[in-house]
Amino acid sequence: MHPASLPSALVEIERIATILGHGPAIFLDYDGTLTPLVPDPKAARIGAGERSVLRSLARKVPVAIVSGRDLDELKDLVAVEGLIYSGNHGWEIEGPGIDRFERPLDEKTQHSLEQAFATLDQATRHLPGIFLELKRFSIAVHTRGARSEAERGAANAEAVKAAAQLDGLRLTSGKEIAELRPLVAWDKGRAVEHVLDSVVPPRIPLYIGDDRTDEDAFAVVAQRQGVGVVVGHPADTGARFSLANPREVLEFLGTLTASFACCDNSRP
Ligand SMILES: [Mg+2]
Repeated sequence: MHPASLPSALVEIERIATILGHGPAIFLDYDGTLTPLVPDPKAARIGAGERSVLRSLARKVPVAIVSGRDLDELKDLVAVEGLIYSGNHGWEIEGPGIDRFERPLDEKTQHSLEQAFATLDQATRHLPGIFLELKRFSIAVHTRGARSEAERGAANAEAVKAAAQLDGLRLTSGKEIAELRPLVAWDKGRAVEHVLDSVVPPRIPLYIGDDRTDEDAFAVVAQRQGVGVVVGHPADTGARFSLANPREVLEFLGTLTASFACCDNSRP
């Protein structure tokens, strides 16, 4: 559905709380959802307000942060205890109520990733605004700092070339990011399923995200009778509601937390 016709999650918060019932599980993307997108990905930190809301929410219901970032970096940036963290688009998951999960990466794909990084490193050396990142299960080509459209285009073209040249990799793209990821069908949607199938008792999911890779999660949430909320104005989305920016996400989560006065997610 086109987001222009999507109702605001803030306006419809009572309806959303009714759909979620007494015991939902909350899934949140990080970049562009909890924190505004900034040129330097390392500088994208949440503030005390966000941390306080996440802490309050996690005392009542399971809260999972689902990101494309490496798990350790994500935990470092969010720095709130008691949350479930899912890094690398769901390749790594850990947190309360979840056995630590890590999808194994076969040797051939591992080798392809390393080779792709070396190739891209060489090919983007003359593009000073492009930031390349070798993560545990993927390579990110960040184009947010590109000095020109030509530089951005050249970096994207190199990513396409590297993905085509090497076995076992696929290319996905998001806002100012191209990623070389293992060909295996594992994504944020599978991460949400894994968490939902692990938590007891069963939970209705709410997922908030802002980018293409969140659409896999919106699809799973729709199957599970949950609620998808997209941040911003993408051309098309599987989410049912929208929020304008991370500021609205914070306001929405704060109000939603208050509506869960019934629940207790504390553990012995
Ligand atoms: Mg995002």
